[in-house]
This record gives sequence, structure tokens and C-alpha cells, in this order.
Amino acid sequence: MSAPTAPTAWYHGRAHRAGETAQVLVTDHPEPGAGTVLRAVIHIPRHSPTGMAWGYLGSGAADLALSVLVDAVWQGQPPCPCVLENRSIDGACLDCGTPRLPYQEFKEQFVATWPEDGAWALPAAELRAWLTEPR
Ligand SMILES: [Zn+2]
Repeated sequence: MSAPTAPTAWYHGRAHRAGETAQVLVTDHPEPGAGTVLRAVIHIPRHSPTGMAWGYLGSGAADLALSVLVDAVWQGQPPCPCVLENRSIDGACLDCGTPRLPYQEFKEQFVATWPEDGAWALPAAELRAWLTEPR
């Protein structure tokens, strides 16, 4: 059995006005607004009930980091309940085997560095490579 080929994809954060809900889209194109939208990243409200954000180290950025990592691991499919129940924080989930998602590190190294009032793009391949780094 061979592993399924991961599609070439990019995560895009769209520029938005203050007070608007931030949206993250997965597309098949590196340029914002180009190509085909494959799906929208589903917000997992662990820290910030009001939505996702970037460009700082707060709760909206933590939720964006978690939500993007979950999307990367489960490819838009509903994640294991361990994610919503916050069970895989300190070790691998006994049900799905998913290790702790390093979303606070992802927030600090990526999400906080994106311009708060601007757009950003992240290749899914770069995220997958970062996720498999030993830490
Ligand atoms: Zn699980």
C-alpha cells in the first residue's frame, strides 16, 4: 500500500478590517485570490470564542494556529474528538495516535509574524515539513 499523494495546496489568510471575522482558505494556488478554493479552515474555539486572528501572540492567534494544524493533519475532515476535548496536549492520543500538536510554537514562529491587517500565504508542504521536525 502506498501513501496517498498529498495535494499541492496553500493556506491563505485574507486581509480584513478590524472587527471582521478573519478567514483562512486552502487553495491550489500560491497567489491570494487565484486558483480554486479547496476548503475553508474550520475555527476550533479553544482560546478565542470570537474567532481567529494573526499578527500578535493572543488567543485569536492561538486558535488560528491550532485550527490550521488540525486542518493540515486531518485535511479538512472532522478531527478526532481528542482535539475538541483537548486530550492530545501532552502526549499522543490513545485513539488516533496523533501526537501533541505544537500549535503554541506554530503561533510564535509563524502566526504572530504575519501582518495583523494584511494577507499571508503558507505552502502546505512547508507546514508539513515543519510539523515533522523533531522538537
Ligand atoms: Zn485522537
